[in-house]
Amino acid sequence: MKGKICLLNEEGLRIDGRKLDQLRPIKIEVGVLKNADGSAYIEQGKNKIMVAVYGPRELHPRHQALPDRAVLRCRYHMAPFSVPERKSPAPSRREVELSKVIRQALEPALFLEMFPRTSIDVFIEVLQADGGTRCASITAAAVALADAGIPMRDLVAAVAVGKIEGKIALDLNHLEDQYGEADIPVAMMPGLDQITLLQADGLITLDELKEALKLAKNGIMQIYKLQKEALKSKYLESGEELG
Ligand code: ADP
Repeated sequence: MKGKICLLNEEGLRIDGRKLDQLRPIKIEVGVLKNADGSAYIEQGKNKIMVAVYGPRELHPRHQALPDRAVLRCRYHMAPFSVPERKSPAPSRREVELSKVIRQALEPALFLEMFPRTSIDVFIEVLQADGGTRCASITAAAVALADAGIPMRDLVAAVAVGKIEGKIALDLNHLEDQYGEADIPVAMMPGLDQITLLQADGLITLDELKEALKLAKNGIMQIYKLQKEALKSKYLESGEELG
C-alpha cells in the first residue's frame, strides 16, 4: 500500500539516513570468478549481485547465430534467498523482462559487428535484492564485459532516480521504490553522454523529470568513476603479482 510509510524525516533525511542526492555505498570487484571470461561483483546498499560473462564464443543453437554480428544474450536471475519471501527459482515474467531491458541497455556499448556468428553471454545472479537491481546489474555487467576483454565504446553505468514525499531522490532502495511516487531507472554511456535506458514508473511532471535526469547523471558519473577504479585495480594487482 502506497503512502503509509514516512520516507523523509523532519531533517529531510531518508530512512537509511541518506540525503536526497546521495548514492548508497557501492563496492565493485572485478575478476571474481575463475571459470568465466569476465566477471564482476557489486554491492550497492543491500544489493549483492554477481555477473559472469562468456564469449565471444560459438553460438548454440547454431540457427540463432547472425551472419554479420554477435548475439548478446543476458539472463537476469534472482536467487530464491535474495528477497524476504522465498522466490521461486523458475524464471518469472519480471526476470524475463529485466533480462531484455538489461540487454538493450548494454548493446549500444558493444561492437557486436566485430564478432559475426558468435554469442556473448551475460549471466546475472542477484544474491540479495533491495531495489534498483536492474541498474546495479547493468553497472556490474558492463565491468564484467570489459573484464572479458570485449571491445566497448564506453562502459555503461546505471542508477534509479525517483520521487519520494514529493521530492526527487537518487538511488531508491526497495522501500522508496515501493512506497514512493515514481521510479525512473536510467543507464548511460557516461563518457559519450548517451542514455541507453530510460524507464519510468509512476507520476512525475516534465520539470521533475528534468531534475531527476540531472540527479541521475550526477550519480552515474560517480558510479562510472568506481567502475574504472575497480577495473584498474585488478590490473594493478596482477601487475604486482608478475613483479
Ligand atoms: P529493480 O530491482 O530494478 O528496482 P523492481 O522495481 O521490479 O526492479 O523491484 C524492486 C525491488 O522489489 C527489488 O529490487 C527487490 O528488492 C524487490 N522484489 C522484486 N521481486 C521480488 C519478489 N519476488 N519478492 C520480494 N521482493 C521482490
